[in-house]
Amino acid sequence: MHEQPAAARLVEAFANTIDVELDTDDLSTPEQLADWLVQHRLLAAPRPTDPADHVLALRLRAGLRERLGVPVGDRPAPELLAEAEQALRALPLLATVTLPTDDGGTAGRATTGGPAAGGAAADRAAAGAATDGGTAGGPTSPTGPHLHPHPDLPPVRRGLAAVAAAWSEVVITGDAARLKRCAEHGCAWVFWDVSKNRSRRWCSMRVCGNRNKARRFAAKRSTERTPAAPAG
Ligand SMILES: [Zn+2]
Repeated sequence: MHEQPAAARLVEAFANTIDVELDTDDLSTPEQLADWLVQHRLLAAPRPTDPADHVLALRLRAGLRERLGVPVGDRPAPELLAEAEQALRALPLLATVTLPTDDGGTAGRATTGGPAAGGAAADRAAAGAATDGGTAGGPTSPTGPHLHPHPDLPPVRRGLAAVAAAWSEVVITGDAARLKRCAEHGCAWVFWDVSKNRSRRWCSMRVCGNRNKARRFAAKRSTERTPAAPAG
């Protein structure tokens, strides 16, 4: 069994803030977005959130969900992918050479960019780690790519950039092939495929797989019953 890495868990949780079946959305307001980021330790405390950042989050989520349908054979909507690409451009990442510390932070990290290496930049990074977005270094593992939200981003964007970093990690490691949106569109739950050959198409074979089978069976029966041609 391929254990789900932290980065994939974060992307999955973000994608599943919308529940198609129950028709609920945990990110329906800017406040809820801030709460979600706090819950996932990507923001230190709830704070007023710019509606523009909320829109950014929803576009990122919509595009990610489209992309996650690809492994089950769904065709993504190009306009949703394009909007997510735009959102990602507002969430810059930095590659680092420093190993993450145990607490998930990256104290003393060296960045590949920024106005000055060390000195003030390092102080700012440490300050960022201690306050808002302190854990927004994201779920980067010691063996995974060292990608982090740009430290100059404002707190909410830094939290969202951590989701972007997690997505980058999932793509780079190839784990994106196991992260899927259920092929049953009435469900569309995002799940981690633990199967050996990464062949699962439904979040649950028992529920969604059987629903699909039953529908196909019913469709087949109805075509069989349809008379070949009207008489006369
Ligand atoms: Zn499902």
